[in-house]
Amino acid sequence: MDKTNALRDLHGVGEKLAAQLNEIGIHTITDLLLHLPFRYEDRTRLTPIGSVLPGQRVLINGKIEYSGVVFGRRRSLIVVLNDGTGLLYLRFFHFRQQQQHAYKAGGHLRCFGEVRAGYKGLEMVHPSCQRISERQLNDPPDGQLTPVYPSTAGLQQLRWLRLTEQALLLLEKNRLPVTELLPAAVRKQFELPMLKPALQQLHRPDASVDTAQLAAGRHPAQRRLILEELAAHQLAMKSLSRQLASLKAPVLNDETLQSKILKQLPYRLTAAQQRVIQEIDADLQNHSPMLRLLQGDVGSGKTVVAAMTIARAVASGWQAAIVAPTELLAEQHLRSMQGWFEPFEIEPVWLTGKLTVKARRVAMEKIRTGAAVVIGTHALMQPEVEFQRLGLVIVDEQHRFGVGQRLALRDKGMAEDSENADKHRPHQLIMTATPIPRTLAMTAYAGLSISIIDELPPGRTPVKTVAIAADRREAVLQRVAEACRNGRQAYWVCTLVEESDQLQAQAAEQTAEALQKALPDLSIGLIHGRLKARDKEQIMQRFRNAELSLLVATTVIEVGVDVPNASLMIIENAERLGLAQLHQLRGRVGRGATESSCVLLYQPPLGSMAKARLDTMRRTSDGFVIAEKDLELRGPGEVLGTRQTGLQQLKIADLTRDHELLDDAIDLAAALESSSTSAAKRLIKRWIGGAAVYGEV
Ligand code: ADP
Ligand code: MG
Repeated sequence: MDKTNALRDLHGVGEKLAAQLNEIGIHTITDLLLHLPFRYEDRTRLTPIGSVLPGQRVLINGKIEYSGVVFGRRRSLIVVLNDGTGLLYLRFFHFRQQQQHAYKAGGHLRCFGEVRAGYKGLEMVHPSCQRISERQLNDPPDGQLTPVYPSTAGLQQLRWLRLTEQALLLLEKNRLPVTELLPAAVRKQFELPMLKPALQQLHRPDASVDTAQLAAGRHPAQRRLILEELAAHQLAMKSLSRQLASLKAPVLNDETLQSKILKQLPYRLTAAQQRVIQEIDADLQNHSPMLRLLQGDVGSGKTVVAAMTIARAVASGWQAAIVAPTELLAEQHLRSMQGWFEPFEIEPVWLTGKLTVKARRVAMEKIRTGAAVVIGTHALMQPEVEFQRLGLVIVDEQHRFGVGQRLALRDKGMAEDSENADKHRPHQLIMTATPIPRTLAMTAYAGLSISIIDELPPGRTPVKTVAIAADRREAVLQRVAEACRNGRQAYWVCTLVEESDQLQAQAAEQTAEALQKALPDLSIGLIHGRLKARDKEQIMQRFRNAELSLLVATTVIEVGVDVPNASLMIIENAERLGLAQLHQLRGRVGRGATESSCVLLYQPPLGSMAKARLDTMRRTSDGFVIAEKDLELRGPGEVLGTRQTGLQQLKIADLTRDHELLDDAIDLAAALESSSTSAAKRLIKRWIGGAAVYGEV
């Protein structure tokens, strides 16, 4: 018989249902089978009504003692069930006349639902019910656990049961293209059950199954599918890297400017900086585009690495662009790059959204006619910005950008190369201060090469961190004042849950006023996202020159601000911030040789998550430890910004739960690749389908 895979071939699937399923990523019957229950209900045992407790989900039987419609606050159908051990009320707010007839007194029902303490006694609201005859009261219930599927508005569990029932039947009859892709030897090596029985078991587990194992995601059938999925992702990434290698990029091999700038630096590069520069340099001399993630904790000195990379591109005759997520950070890069490049008569061009129309036109013209170094915000990614020969793109703090934006810049490519009609792709360096745990990097960023600066410049002292309840704010204030009077400089960070710039700015303004009133002898500055670029720059300049001793700020200073003399930071409402953000903020201090402190002011009582975050901050300043903890507390989707990464495309695997399986998955992928390329291809198609481009960031 013919194979099928179309949802519309299932009974009961029309255009509307198919569309609903598509929306949650189910396009084929195979996808439907890979849509696994997220929990199971035990309807395999009957519970005597006399022994049920509120909160339990149970299967009960009984004779209908009473049935009638009551008109209380809401009209409802009440059915009273008696099984000889006790009475239980069933309550239906939505019911049809038909149901009312079916549930007449004297009949018998078998019901499953959650028991709660009702007004008159124990009750179930909208249980699922089945009419039975008196004889059937003693029939053994279902031998299988009842699956509960993740669903979407308007799709009842019964629908899922009917759909998966049909899909499983087709699977049974070999009418689906769901075939075993893992060779017997590979299954044996990794101790994996076959695909078909694994799917059968997960959709319809026997009553004998180890439910705890199932709930933990550790059942062999689950392990089989998780490993298969993770291996598919590995294979997809490898295939993407191969595709990338087939694209063309400019060869950047002129080192003269690099060594000139290097000679002018007031410090020696750390060993880690030298190593990553070598790694990048090796890529830039290749014909294929570099796609490299540069991780380095806050303050590790990524900017000079970026400058070295740019110098190579520029000396080799290509344009280089650096894109920052905020104006403030872009300005800081501009200043750094000016310092490095202007001595060699290279004037960086500056483009942000806040330029005047005229300045913008001038900047765009310079970019179009080949300006060597271009610095800006996401405004650089707009389609009307044209480069003459873009050879290198550096994206700073990538977690602020979506994949789409990054693609936009990369796809600018460049004008046609004169000798060569092929379009070149620029090399790409993504810099992030958010350490990405190895587990995530391997899956979300596989296909990217990774360079890590794992060493801070010498002479740094660790930041002492304390958490203090807000009712001791006054004492903290006095300590800050004293430190400032002794020539130290401090940040006072205001946080708001609201994303709104305006509200944040207001809160910071009020705080600044209040602080100035309390400490009239201190010079206090204020910086927030609503200030004009020029005003922001002016305030930062005054803070840098130590004309201001206290800087009240919103989280705009989270990224990149570099004032080595600032050694004290107060973060208000620290309990509201995530670990990554706290770590970034704290990275603004501890950049000089004086001992720095960070005070996390919090509003008690602390929830358990908030407490765990603050404890982590007190215990460690290691960005990788913090990132791992963040992952543990929040889950991978959150850490990377789910929408940006394609991580949501994991159907079954859960990186928080399954990271121990990653090594096996990599081995499995390798084993599969060497045993059958066609199986590898089909595996990618099964799990990732047409979405395989997402890894190319
Ligand atoms: P980040 O990695 O957070 O972007 P930056 O590039 O802003 O870090 O560098 C942080 C500070 O460290 C800057 O003041 C920079 O001048 C300084 N710095 C960078 N590299 C070195 C080094 N090798 N030795 C001493 N100071 C350095
Ligand atoms: Mg930086």
